[in-house]
Amino acid sequence: MNSSSLISLDDALHKLLLFAKPLNRVSNVSTFKADGCVLAQDLVSAMQVPSFDNSAMDGYAVRLADLSLNEGVLKLGQRILAGHSSSPLNKGEVARIFTGAPVPLGADAVVMQEEVIVVDDSHVRFQTLPTLGQCIRKKGEDIDKDIVLLTQGTRLDPMSLGLAASIGLPSLTVSDKPKVALFSTGDELVMPGDIEPYLLPTGSIFNSNRFFLRSLLERLGCDVTDMGNIPDDPEKTVSALYQAAMNHDLILTSGGVSVGEADFVKPAVQTLGELQLWALSIKPGKPFAYGYIKNQSNPDKQAHFIGLPGNPVSSLVTFLMLVRPFVLSLQGCLDLTVKPTLKRADFALPKSDKRREFLRVKRNQNDGLDLFPNQSSGVLTSAVWADGLVDNPAGTSIAPGDLVKFLSFNDLMS
Ligand code: AMP
Ligand code: MG
Repeated sequence: MNSSSLISLDDALHKLLLFAKPLNRVSNVSTFKADGCVLAQDLVSAMQVPSFDNSAMDGYAVRLADLSLNEGVLKLGQRILAGHSSSPLNKGEVARIFTGAPVPLGADAVVMQEEVIVVDDSHVRFQTLPTLGQCIRKKGEDIDKDIVLLTQGTRLDPMSLGLAASIGLPSLTVSDKPKVALFSTGDELVMPGDIEPYLLPTGSIFNSNRFFLRSLLERLGCDVTDMGNIPDDPEKTVSALYQAAMNHDLILTSGGVSVGEADFVKPAVQTLGELQLWALSIKPGKPFAYGYIKNQSNPDKQAHFIGLPGNPVSSLVTFLMLVRPFVLSLQGCLDLTVKPTLKRADFALPKSDKRREFLRVKRNQNDGLDLFPNQSSGVLTSAVWADGLVDNPAGTSIAPGDLVKFLSFNDLMS
């Protein structure tokens, strides 16, 4: 694998997204359950919000023209609470009103209670002249009727659920979760809980990728079938892929896609389907593979295949850069990539790399970035210490004070 045969990340992403056509399976789900789901149709308001003029303050609803009467001392008429109706304002009277309550017909301003003097049980005095419409939230000022509030392909967040509820929608039409089969490969892998850490034989390691890959997929709205760990064995690898292709949209594996003698995943993919992309020009994350597996019982169907590197940080970086947009695209999401922000490097990277590099960094108190000292792809603590990645172009060294492209884990992992 010489460096000229490696695919650039941009090319790989472009190709992958051509393959990741939206699945176009949709369901109606409760608005309560729709956080993180992708809207499968535009969200259009069938009503105005607010649907009536209402008070923005606890105070008094007045007719401006009446405030010049009787030296500003006016009779208290009705009392209007939120959730209750009001009747038209009588001439020469004001209404006690509370936040959210409907403004009575005839009133053209609300004066907050702090600006009004209570004369007695039935009279109040106004000292200042309010402006027309003051403290009144006008009908439709938040949302007008027939407005597209959110477009198809938007990923819903908690605030969009609130918005949908504010126009009376108890359920929303969203894309179904992509079905993803996940398995790790490697004879060395042991599940936490199967062996006490102090009894772990030399040569064995605990399977960590399985945990973060599964969680990341679930966060991105996937329905994950965890197929566990497959040993480094060609037949078992073929059999696992064969099984997984029956009823999944995507098969995601970690490990076994390099060029070692125990790397059986790529040949297995070639046995059951086709490998369409392999090896990226990024660090970490070179051994990355994309292809498809034919569904052996239905020749018209196939499952996408993505093979991630086994080294945990390589697995994480390739997941965030490629699998994340891939599974979002399967759901019809339109906003697929995270935009970097420019930040100041408070570290030096004197030695540049031939490959585009993703460095584990953390924001410091001076809004600069610190670099984790050990950038090895096997050091998972680097990714836990860090709160994001620097996307450093190939062949670029970094000096303290340089502006670098920062991608936050908060954005990448949501
Ligand atoms: P591979 O890509 O299979 O050559 O694995 C590269 C490195 O990642 C090896 O040191 C593996 O032991 C390690 N590795 C592979 N899979 C996992 C996993 N699921 N969890 C933690 N480390 C892994
Ligand atoms: Mg391996």
